[in-house]
Amino acid sequence: MSATAARSPAATEVANWLSRFGEALEQGDSAGAAELFAPESYWRDLIAFTWNIKTVEGRAEIADMLDHTLGRVKPRGWHATEEPEVADGVTSAWIAFETETGRGGGHLRLIDGQAWTLLTALDELKGYEQGLGPRRPKGVVHGANPERHSWLEDRRREAEELGHTVQPYAVIVGGGQGGIALGARLRQLGVPTIIVERNPRPGDSWRNRYKSLCLHDPVWYDHLPYVKFPPNWPVFSPKDKIADWLEMYTRVMELNYWGSTTAKSARYDEDAGEWTLVVDRDGEEITLRPKQLVMATGMSGRPHTPVFEGMDRFKGDQHHSSRHPGPDKYRGKRAVVIGSNNSAHDICAALWEHGADVTMVQRSSTHVVRSDTLMEIALGALYSEDAVAAGMTTEKADLTFASLPYRIMAGLQVPVYEQIRERDADFYARLEAAGFQHDWGEDGSGLFMKYLRRASGYYIDVGASELVASGEVKLRPGQVDHLTEGAVVMADGTELPADLVVYATGYESMNGSVADLISQEVADKVGKVWGLGSDTAKDPGPWEGEQRNMWKPTQQKALWFHGGNLHQSRHYSLYLALQLKARAEGIDTPVYGLQEVHHTR
Ligand SMILES: Cc1cc2nc3c(=O)[nH]c(=O)nc-3n(C[C@H](O)[C@H](O)[C@H](O)COP(=O)(O)OP(=O)(O)OC[C@H]3O[C@@H](n4cnc5c(N)ncnc54)[C@H](O)[C@@H]3O)c2cc1C
Repeated sequence: MSATAARSPAATEVANWLSRFGEALEQGDSAGAAELFAPESYWRDLIAFTWNIKTVEGRAEIADMLDHTLGRVKPRGWHATEEPEVADGVTSAWIAFETETGRGGGHLRLIDGQAWTLLTALDELKGYEQGLGPRRPKGVVHGANPERHSWLEDRRREAEELGHTVQPYAVIVGGGQGGIALGARLRQLGVPTIIVERNPRPGDSWRNRYKSLCLHDPVWYDHLPYVKFPPNWPVFSPKDKIADWLEMYTRVMELNYWGSTTAKSARYDEDAGEWTLVVDRDGEEITLRPKQLVMATGMSGRPHTPVFEGMDRFKGDQHHSSRHPGPDKYRGKRAVVIGSNNSAHDICAALWEHGADVTMVQRSSTHVVRSDTLMEIALGALYSEDAVAAGMTTEKADLTFASLPYRIMAGLQVPVYEQIRERDADFYARLEAAGFQHDWGEDGSGLFMKYLRRASGYYIDVGASELVASGEVKLRPGQVDHLTEGAVVMADGTELPADLVVYATGYESMNGSVADLISQEVADKVGKVWGLGSDTAKDPGPWEGEQRNMWKPTQQKALWFHGGNLHQSRHYSLYLALQLKARAEGIDTPVYGLQEVHHTR
């Protein structure tokens, strides 16, 4: 029997589609290629065609993208890499291809022989493949050599020279998990990089958070690039443990990490094509001149603290949640926590555990999902022990996630949250009976969409909701009007006596860090960071199709943003690193569909 005859109908369908698609592309027939897509269809490209992170929707946009990119990209060699799957009338296939400059992979969904979704993702640049697996470095040069120097000597020399006699190609401002993951990718790609971090040690951005904090995401979701957590790692990592892991990782991945270093000012010189970045390294002012500047200063980097009349009169302790030291000194004290999202709940629970009298002020509705339920229903298929046992790898899980265009993601999430609502109906009934204002997102799409749209407005319940439902943590809906010497006074006049006020009121957009470091003008030029343009609360339209400014070219040449949760940071650091590497090597990187700026903050 020939190989073709042995093919399943799904494999034949995919092979036929890929063959027609590949032919149209090779002939430069953009319209013909676009005709292979359904009228409602999506092509998400992670830098393989567009040198951008870009989703084009429908045949006209697909044809336009191809018109602008095909001649240069020269895609070829399209094939399925494993047996396709068929479910609910959709044939799904993992695919691979190559372009003039690189090799890529992706994912295809066909309905009735037409493409519904296509993901194309660049994996590597030809000639600049990473030294992994069979390509790993030897680590030693055998033979006899009087000039021999050791690995340690080389590392020391590099550390002495980089940033002083040798300029880094890239500087990453912010050495949290985001900066560290990107730094590791760039190291593997041989891009000379310095990470500057205000805190002394890698992991400090986690260490400095309130002491009860454990990751809300499970271990399978949290791996860093290249080095996975060992099998004995807890499902939910305590913050100090993840901090130690980051510190270890920074060392073994040989990153040039400047702790106790604050980036103070930056200016781009268009003519020289480089940044002048002034940093304070442990009291010494150093000027760096990188070609590329990456802001990895954290989605939770700039606290948003509301201003209430009387804050200056209040006699007790008051601080933003990011500065909350933990509950120890508040035993027997009266605490008012303003806000009702993740940090507010975590802090309320820890204060309650330490015998404080706790009131949560809820100013607007919050979406709550129980952690166990979330793990099982929303994440389990991709990120869980069962998923691992079924052969799911982190890389495949990440690509599966990435293969869902944001436009359709919300609709696909709705049934997930309907299932959650049904499963935990008693829980929600008790919470609402206690007066907690709960929502499911404006379109019922739940937690992950809230995260992608506004990175706020939810709590993953690990126990505090029970305290709210039972009244152990008192709930006070409404707006704060002012503070007195000893109380928070609500708009309806109710006084909440307090020894401690915690403002668990969230964070500001990352382009605020650009205003601090570079200028307000450049911050406005690049615009709001994060969000999709979904036209829901805190994510105003128009629709942008991708997260604003994240991991892709911005309106400011040579300025990039990196960050997100551990999953996003791991996955998208690859594409940002490849974009930087391509530029470092002088590869032509014309950007298709550079995002426009619709909002400045
Ligand atoms: C309470 C809380 C719980 C969270 N739980 C989870 C979770 O379970 N899972 C998850 O994936 N995410 C979680 N997050 C989101 C979390 O913020 C991010 O995952 C993570 O911290 C992002 O890493 P980052 O490197 O992008 O930013 P950060 O960790 O915030 O790091 C940014 C770094 O930039 C440094 N920096 C800023 N400005 C400068 C400057 N001018 N010069 C030098 N250095 C500078 C800061 O010191 C900081 O260390 C949580 C966040 C909070 C607040």
